[in-house]
Amino acid sequence: MRPDKKELMELLSTKGEENLASLYKRAYEIKKQFVGTTVYLRGLIELSNICSKNCYYCGIRSGNKEVNRYQISFQEAMEEVKLCIDFHYGSIVIQAGEREDKPWIDFITKLVKSIKELSDNKLGITLSLGEQELEVYQQWFEAGAHRYLLRIETSNPELYKALHPANHSFAHRLNCLHLLRQCGYQVGTGVMTGLPGQTIEDLANDILFFSDEDIDMLGMGPFIPHHNTPFKNLIDSFNPTEALNLGLKMIAVCRITLQDVNIASTTALQALHPEGRELGLKAGANVLMPNITDTKYRKGYQLYEGKPGLNETAIQFQKELEKHIYAIGETIGYDKWGDSHHFFKRKNEKTL
Ligand code: SAH
Ligand code: SF4
Repeated sequence: MRPDKKELMELLSTKGEENLASLYKRAYEIKKQFVGTTVYLRGLIELSNICSKNCYYCGIRSGNKEVNRYQISFQEAMEEVKLCIDFHYGSIVIQAGEREDKPWIDFITKLVKSIKELSDNKLGITLSLGEQELEVYQQWFEAGAHRYLLRIETSNPELYKALHPANHSFAHRLNCLHLLRQCGYQVGTGVMTGLPGQTIEDLANDILFFSDEDIDMLGMGPFIPHHNTPFKNLIDSFNPTEALNLGLKMIAVCRITLQDVNIASTTALQALHPEGRELGLKAGANVLMPNITDTKYRKGYQLYEGKPGLNETAIQFQKELEKHIYAIGETIGYDKWGDSHHFFKRKNEKTL
């Protein structure tokens, strides 16, 4: 059933500690009922910060000349994959800036195939590599990737226009989501919350967009201004508590209304609060993406200011992680893909 916009706006406008606590509690009950309290882990490799795009909000946009660009080699990437297997994470996410050149496309294909081989087909693979042609999405799907994350960033085309240069297209990005669906991927999208110029109505419309597009997975997080972007003037007035609360509210309202989708508790939440990750889980998220990128590259992947874990190795993180998850009474789905329940429901409905 399509959520009611007025109700969405009311829920998203929740204020005051008590009301917020009951909103999160309601979301948590629905999470328990529809997806359970097992957290699924995806080891995240930030494969390269080379990007042909110039999104105004992003710290690794092509226009930022102060960033040293890197690309992790095949061998190094495979070392990180081994870590992921050793940690029993179950899935891996490969994320990077956007590139459409053939050497890059073939590099990804080779990597995906090799991950499947090395893990004996056991590691689930999610890609987050931006807008590509149908043939490229197909090639990567056939190589073994089965989930793809492409945030729409905002479902408001006017706001999208204000956040991107003229050669970036909302319609094209939306079409990419459709191409991904056509290939057979579990499709993930999402938005940033607290974007300059964004209203509560925009966020409600975002949720309607997720519902209308029948999205399987969501990755959403607060917008955090970066000093080397056109939005640097927003740093002084940025309020981390407000940004955190809005990000958590969005997770909770998505869980309440969309019920069986996978929702990630993202690093941007952690950047705003030391327990941001757990707060995300308590507001309804059920997926975490521990960063397994070698620490020597992390400085180069600062999409926003204050991204945490710059020096924390994957091993240190893994030790802490269990403690934190068990502390909130949840378990970890080691060695499980933890696929989106919504995806299977959608598939079954189609075949009925
Ligand atoms: N290049 C790919 C994937 C990497 S960017 C793509 O754009 O799809 C991953 C996500 O980082 C983006 O979708 C965006 O939502 C988020 N991001 C970029 N800049 C950000 C900022 N300043 N604050 C919070 N999130 C940001
Ligand atoms: Fe590139 Fe993605 Fe950043 Fe846009 S958000 S500049 S596509 S890395």
